[in-house]
Amino acid sequence: MADPLPKQCLILGAGLAGLLAGQRLQAQGWQVTILDKGRGVGGRMATRRIPTPAGTMAVLDHGAQFFTVRSDEFARLVAGWQAAGVVAEWSRGFAVGDGSWLNDGHPRYRGVGGMTAVAKHLAAGLDVRLACQVTAVVAQADRWLVHTADGQQYPAGALLLTPPVPQSLALLAAGGVALPEVTQAALAGLSYDPCLALLVVLEGPSGVPRPGGMWPGGEIIGWLADNTQKGISPEVHAVTIHATPEFSRTHYETAPEEVARLLLAEARSWLGSRVLMVQQQRWRYSIPRLTYPEPCLVVPGPPPLLFAGDIFAGPRVEGAALSGLAAAAALAAL
Ligand SMILES: Cc1cc2nc3c(=O)[nH]c(=O)nc-3n(C[C@H](O)[C@H](O)[C@H](O)COP(=O)(O)OP(=O)(O)OC[C@H]3O[C@@H](n4cnc5c(N)ncnc54)[C@H](O)[C@@H]3O)c2cc1C
Repeated sequence: MADPLPKQCLILGAGLAGLLAGQRLQAQGWQVTILDKGRGVGGRMATRRIPTPAGTMAVLDHGAQFFTVRSDEFARLVAGWQAAGVVAEWSRGFAVGDGSWLNDGHPRYRGVGGMTAVAKHLAAGLDVRLACQVTAVVAQADRWLVHTADGQQYPAGALLLTPPVPQSLALLAAGGVALPEVTQAALAGLSYDPCLALLVVLEGPSGVPRPGGMWPGGEIIGWLADNTQKGISPEVHAVTIHATPEFSRTHYETAPEEVARLLLAEARSWLGSRVLMVQQQRWRYSIPRLTYPEPCLVVPGPPPLLFAGDIFAGPRVEGAALSGLAAAAALAAL
């Protein structure tokens, strides 16, 4: 038998949950490797750069748009990010479709330069392998073996799964791993809303009211953001449109051109300028519909297996962060 792998943890997912867990474990002397199928870190905290024919660059947040702070633990983290120049307050409220303003007094934070700024900050100093698509997780006597699409195998003394839960369950099923029946049933019952996002490059300023975000109301568009007013797209006017969960579910397989036509028609009174370019992003798992009752899930093993992510500690950026920290603490305590 191979040597056991003490204090060695493999983490799937370089979103907020995986990165914070990795950072916390590494600080406690664990050897940590993080695998992510994406070309960049951040997961659903995603920023896209779209070059224009004029040689300029549009920058759009197309996943999470901002985050709020509700707990002291997250407030301490965010204060550190603010001091490091990674996040800034965007607003304390946004316009709604009837022309009124919803201001509940809670600060909404944005990443400086885009939401991925937080993830890039956290990833510095961590061993993160990108463009690394995991295809199966296999159990061995004293370790996990993680298979990737490029034919590599990564051994893990402990394994932390942070992808959306249906994707994590599919990886375990592909490797023939059977979870305890109650755990499997609880996880299989979790679900997320889809979100169709349209990234729109404009010729001039948009008509989205200050400070560049709004909940327009209605059945088609859930959120509109002007990335220039937000402060992340200084060269090019660019708007992010998020369809409602209902529209996204109905049109998830609809041709992108048709989705763009429908969303642009609905948004026309807020676009304000000619549309130059459009791209679409489909989020199959955007925001959890129900959350798991614990901040992370531990299947003790050996070898230990943990689940974390926003579905465990709150359906938002803060929940993902707290879940990652909870998973690190739970693993260190085993
Ligand atoms: C459209 C949209 C709008 C949102 N708006 C807000 C908002 O305004 N405010 C807010 O607080 N939250 C918002 N959220 C939710 C927020 O983005 C998430 O709660 C948070 O980013 C989740 O972080 P996470 O680490 O749990 O998961 P993720 O960020 O999803 O990280 C999981 C990672 O796992 C990787 N992965 C998956 N499968 C594999 C595989 N097979 N191999 C390797 N890697 C894999 C993925 O690439 C991903 O990077 C929004 C989300 C979306 C999509």
